[in-house]
Amino acid sequence: MNLRLKLILPFALLLAAVYAYSSLYMIPSYIDLAKSKQLEQESTYVDLLSTALLPDLLESDLANVYSTLDTVLSERKHWYSLSLFNVDKVRIYPLSDRYIPKDAVLESLDRDVIFNGKFYTSIKLQLDINHQIQEEVAYIAKIQNSVMIVLFLTFLAMSVFLDILIRKPMVKLAKLADRIARGDYQSKPVIHTKDEVGKLGQSLEAMQLKIHERDQEMNHYSNIQDTIRFIQSKFISEQEATHVFLELQRKILKLTHCTAGLIGELILDDKQQPYLSPLSTDNKLHLYSGSTVIKIADDNYEQYNQADTLMSKLMSTGKPLIDNGPDIQMERLGFPVESDEAVKNFLGLPLYTGYQFVGVLCLINNKTSFDRSIFNDLDVLLQTLAQLIVAYRERKTLIDNEARLRMVVDNAVEGIISTDEKGTITSFNSAAERIFGYSQNQMIGANVISLIPEHNHTGHIEAVKFLLDSNLNIRQVNNELETDGLHRNGKLIPLELSISKVVTQQGMQYTGIVRDITERKQHEEELSRAYSELQLAHEQLEEQNRRDALTGLANRRHLDEALQLEWKRAERQADSPLSIILCDIDYFKPYNDTYGHLEGDECLRQVALAIKNSFTCEVDLVARYGGEEFMVVLPNTPGDSATRQAEKMRKNIWALALEHKSSKVAARVSISAGVYTVTTTKHLSLNQCINFADESLYQAKAAGRNQVMHYDAINAEMSAPEQDII
Ligand code: GH3
Ligand code: MG
Ligand code: MG
Repeated sequence: MNLRLKLILPFALLLAAVYAYSSLYMIPSYIDLAKSKQLEQESTYVDLLSTALLPDLLESDLANVYSTLDTVLSERKHWYSLSLFNVDKVRIYPLSDRYIPKDAVLESLDRDVIFNGKFYTSIKLQLDINHQIQEEVAYIAKIQNSVMIVLFLTFLAMSVFLDILIRKPMVKLAKLADRIARGDYQSKPVIHTKDEVGKLGQSLEAMQLKIHERDQEMNHYSNIQDTIRFIQSKFISEQEATHVFLELQRKILKLTHCTAGLIGELILDDKQQPYLSPLSTDNKLHLYSGSTVIKIADDNYEQYNQADTLMSKLMSTGKPLIDNGPDIQMERLGFPVESDEAVKNFLGLPLYTGYQFVGVLCLINNKTSFDRSIFNDLDVLLQTLAQLIVAYRERKTLIDNEARLRMVVDNAVEGIISTDEKGTITSFNSAAERIFGYSQNQMIGANVISLIPEHNHTGHIEAVKFLLDSNLNIRQVNNELETDGLHRNGKLIPLELSISKVVTQQGMQYTGIVRDITERKQHEEELSRAYSELQLAHEQLEEQNRRDALTGLANRRHLDEALQLEWKRAERQADSPLSIILCDIDYFKPYNDTYGHLEGDECLRQVALAIKNSFTCEVDLVARYGGEEFMVVLPNTPGDSATRQAEKMRKNIWALALEHKSSKVAARVSISAGVYTVTTTKHLSLNQCINFADESLYQAKAAGRNQVMHYDAINAEMSAPEQDII
């Protein structure tokens, strides 16, 4: 609701209230009063009429009565119905049912005429009182209207008056406030009255001034805040930090209304001399804090020897420096300024993070001189700038380190593959490209599972789960393991793999170092094959060394070893008898002489085979003892069994029926054998035992050859003392 409406509304309501009060209460009550007065008057008329009628009723006839009543009625036009009843309630004057207008409201007046206590007659009258007071009501309505018009005009005048005096100045002030709110601080309210409205205008003006000042201040700070936000966002997003510093310098110059400036990073050179490396200029410019100023731009070297330049003073003292002119020469300034204008006012501000002096901000203003209040104004900005320089420095180191690391990774012989927690590949070096046959572009973003053959998937998932579960946030390297990788061409690649886990800010990161060991595996296989061949050859050689070349039986060396072993066993196991059979081909010398040496050799082979086949037990050893003599070692074999087996052997050879014309036994090859059985090794040596066997053989030969002799059986006298010994 606007002010105009607010100003009019009370008057309108008051007007309506006056009108309502007069219409609803005052006028009706006045009408009621008038009506009752009229009724009273009418009642007086009726009374008069009754008194006038009474003598006539008594004394004259009714004709007079009627004429009286007619006269009365002709006067009283608003009497509509007048009846006269006698004592018997018979209407004696049925007069005057006049035409009654529709809107007439009739009142009744009844009067009984009583005289001396005697009822004469009754009068019944119906009349319209409204008709009678109509004029008065019209008059009063006229008065009401006049009053309402006067009141309305008064209120209208007051409204206009208030509108001009209050509403319009208020609107002006509201517009002014609105303009202030929109940041217009130049408008004036143009109200010069000395009343409250005027005062309000003055207050608004004062307020405008204050807001203006505050706004300027806020603007300044918000510009600083904006600049800081800009720095932060730019620095995070931009790769090339020098662009950020250039842009930043532009912003600072705008903020401080300066014409030129310089942001520089303070660095120590090899000799620990502090020098300034400007960050906000494309010039390669190095300024030393000592006496020397070196400018290096476009490969032109300029060297000044000035100890007292403003720049070197700022760098060496590390304190803010203000020099408000007169004109400062470039040599005194200490660094070149792009514009040709003379430098008038210089401000040098050191940048600190904590106590560390990390850089400087220099500003040049050719219009207004600097004052110390700027230190406070720029405080937050300077801190941010210092932090930025430190971050820039760290970033440089980080980039250097990263580049170095990348070089190492790229040139590594091993494939280096990093993945995130889900196995998505985040780095894939050149060696990995060579090993797996995929390019880096193909693999970044792919899942590492594609490099693992299907049969290793479960193992891989388990290994990753194990690494994930181990709750360490330090680098953890598992032992190298050999596994298979899957080449792009589908072939398996033998790999040596070690996985490390690093918890970074981005989450878990796994790095796998893989070495293709195909060649090594091949070498290993070749080596192992060569080794087994060698082993086989060696074994064959060993075997050959232990075999007799002619017959294929165990040779004498093998026999000696076996005899030693068996002897030791016999020594350990007293209840295990050891039998030795020594056999010799009968008349073999004549055989050689008859058939030749080669035939003799063949005969030896056949006899040897027959002897070998005569002993089926695995532990029995058949050996060539020398020349045409053979020895059979029968472990765990008692004498009788050994004799039986020797006899079987003899028969087998006999059964070969090899021709031997020069034998004195028969015309076929035969053998003689001597057997000795060791039942106890006590007081006995192996050689003795062999001798006993040999002796038995000798006995067999002596007894006519082609027979078997057991030492015990044939030589009772020889064995008796032996047995005595045993
Ligand atoms: P006996 O044993 O019946 O008393 O008579 P013998 O003729 O067999 O006796 P002797 O031990 O004197 O002869 C052994 C011969 O065996 C001598 C040698 O010519 C022959 N001889 C030994 N070693 C070989 C060999 O490797 N090849 C051939 N062909 N003959 C051999
Ligand atoms: Mg012999
Ligand atoms: Mg012989």
